Amino acid sequence: MKAHDGMYIGGTWGPAATADTIAVVNPADEQVLAHVPAGTADDVDAAVRAARAAFPGWAATPPADRAARLATLRDVLAARQGEIAETVTAELGAPPKLAGTVHAGLPVLVAGSYAELAATYAFEEKVGNSTVLHEPIGVVGAITPWNYPLHQIVAKVAPALAAGCTVVLKPAEDTPLTAQLFAEAVDEAGLPAGVFNLVTGLGPVAGQALAEHPDVDLVSFTGSTAVGRRIGATAGGAVKRVALELGGKSANVILPGADLARAVAVGIANVMSNSGQTCSAWTRMLVHTDQYDEAVALAAEAVAKYTPGDRLGPLVNARQQQRVRGYIEQGVAEGARLVAGGPEAPRETGYYVAPTVFADVTAEMTIAQEEIFGPVVSILRYEDEDDALRIANGTVYGLAGAVWGPQDEAVAFARRMDTGQVDINGGRFNPLAPFGGYKQSGVGRELGSHGLAEYLHTKSLQF
Ligand code: NAD
Repeated sequence: MKAHDGMYIGGTWGPAATADTIAVVNPADEQVLAHVPAGTADDVDAAVRAARAAFPGWAATPPADRAARLATLRDVLAARQGEIAETVTAELGAPPKLAGTVHAGLPVLVAGSYAELAATYAFEEKVGNSTVLHEPIGVVGAITPWNYPLHQIVAKVAPALAAGCTVVLKPAEDTPLTAQLFAEAVDEAGLPAGVFNLVTGLGPVAGQALAEHPDVDLVSFTGSTAVGRRIGATAGGAVKRVALELGGKSANVILPGADLARAVAVGIANVMSNSGQTCSAWTRMLVHTDQYDEAVALAAEAVAKYTPGDRLGPLVNARQQQRVRGYIEQGVAEGARLVAGGPEAPRETGYYVAPTVFADVTAEMTIAQEEIFGPVVSILRYEDEDDALRIANGTVYGLAGAVWGPQDEAVAFARRMDTGQVDINGGRFNPLAPFGGYKQSGVGRELGSHGLAEYLHTKSLQF
């Protein structure tokens, strides 16, 4: 597969500081697709310098002109959707349909939303006798994961550029080819040199150098809670702004008055999509004790159509496959009942995990508390609404969730949930709604105007 052997810094593809490379592997067949440069602190430093040099000019560019550039970027991403989808399928293993719709389509929507917001956002407002200015924060260090390779990039870079910031991106080492395509799109869209820069490399090397760089004004990170905690601590030490989008263990609460069949089918589909590698996945299904057995039977039926290799892609790498299989073994060991799937790999080649459903899961079990990040659903039983709420809120996470039932009851329940977003009776994705977590699911919000505000300072002038 086509890959650049250098970094995109200051508007050109130039050589990396060392000759070290990272192999990019197709998780469906375990074959090496390409090699990309393994960036070092020197590459990161060069990229931060380029971003710093470009900052004053980009910050002073009228918002309408920034909006026009973002609209061109959206158009380029739309024109290259097919190529992007193929690349995501190759390096992440996403089934082609999912790659075409979600992986390649969502970034077009989000880039478009920021083209509009850049043009309409109130970068200046009147508050009594003051004028309040919302100014770009400066150079942004963006560190992204592999689960939605392009969406995660666009959800950081588009609002940062809309705000007038410049960016250095360190994408996940498993999915750098999609990031290189994004850099090509930025180049094609004619963004000024240095406004966006790409350094591929390993997390503990290039990622850490970016998070610790003294001339980065804001670090925006999405990934594991363990790494997020370190990045937050580093940023705290430097008194630097940080945005963290971390893990989740979201509850899918099915109230007694719900359409049970639909709630279970959509709930299973929500977790199986992207092979469970979604931070907001509804991995805990909460069902009233009277409907429990029926829900378990429906779940077993619904999961049967996710054939590995067809509708269900592999996990991103061997480490994740091992991790998820380990969680399934632990679920069995702690007394949960397997109703579908299990720890055995369903295919000899590729990092596949069987679509798995556990019943008789209790709130204290490891599989009900920790983020598994694989195609695994735990079905828990509750006695009444207070019990359901205690279970729903009873993890360290609070990223997303769902409630099914009569509208008023479902909304009342959702208001009591400690979580950043809740879909009521299926909801409908809104790219302008803020996305982010309560508790250890993170700090800050992405998407829409809330996502844009993360990249702005506030200054007030009194008259
Ligand atoms: P990770 O946190 O290690 O990686 C995410 C990003 O951080 C990558 O770009 C990586 O290179 C970088 N990184 C790693 N170590 C770093 C460091 N010391 N300093 C700076 N950057 C660093 O995630 P992972 O190991 O790929 O996945 C492990 C688990 O994380 C998953 O099983 C899942 O539970 C969680 N995860 C969550 C999300 C999410 O969307 N919230 C995405 C991916 C993974």
